[in-house]
Amino acid sequence: MAYTVRVQAILAPMSDGSDAPWVTPEEIREALRLATDVFRLAEVEFLFDPASDVVTMPSDLLSRDCILAPDADFSGPKDVPPACDIKPFPEYNSNDNERKRVAELYPGKLVVFFAFGRAPRWNEATQHWEDVPGGIAGSFSNHLFPFVRCGPSPPGLVLSHEIGHYLHLVHTFGPGVSHLDDIRGEKGVRSLIREFIQNSGLPRNRGLEAFDGDLSICVAYPTIHCITDTPPDPGPDVFKNEGLNPCAADQGTLRFDVQWPDGEVVSFAFQPDRENIMNY
Ligand SMILES: [Zn+2]
Repeated sequence: MAYTVRVQAILAPMSDGSDAPWVTPEEIREALRLATDVFRLAEVEFLFDPASDVVTMPSDLLSRDCILAPDADFSGPKDVPPACDIKPFPEYNSNDNERKRVAELYPGKLVVFFAFGRAPRWNEATQHWEDVPGGIAGSFSNHLFPFVRCGPSPPGLVLSHEIGHYLHLVHTFGPGVSHLDDIRGEKGVRSLIREFIQNSGLPRNRGLEAFDGDLSICVAYPTIHCITDTPPDPGPDVFKNEGLNPCAADQGTLRFDVQWPDGEVVSFAFQPDRENIMNY
């Protein structure tokens, strides 16, 4: 293996011991074995000793995903969320600042926090705000924060996906879209392809690139090598709404035509890589 990454797991209940994550050190090791399989072609190996690479740190800041203001009001309507310390990416809120401070206590290691991540979320069924686990994003990570945050349960392949973001991988899919045609004010695949061609000036037969979240990438270290691009991917919703099961091997292709204002019709087919962990 060209790269070995040692992982430090931090289990973060609340300061009073409540909201304790229930993932076990052995389950973290299993998820990291999966990650080593997933990243095998990139020659990245994850090392983790369940006896010494996991620690429990009770802390409200590490456990929650945002700290409620003293006057946080959960009785308001949908457009008046309870006051909570939320910052737009890439800013750090107080929780992420504390995660960053703690992660930097482990130089050379990839630090993964396991926590409930409580935060306010609107409940459509009860029409009330609630303080719930994973309230903002469930698990999350990105190419700037020096840590990965997982939920309280065994992470499975989600850990590979989040480590992918930590290693600067982006989602393979493009803009969020649910149908081929426009519906209820949301643009569909056909509109987005026509707009993409108009804005990019590319030939019409390259319209699927509107749904290419990542691109091929070349890196100069340790030797110059390139990673080929993944196929364009509109995400699973379009497949479902067009009557296909995005998880069935024989229903992995979505064919459709796009007509331009001058009458020309171009045929396209989505055939995303269903094994890639950086899609949904
Ligand atoms: Zn993601």
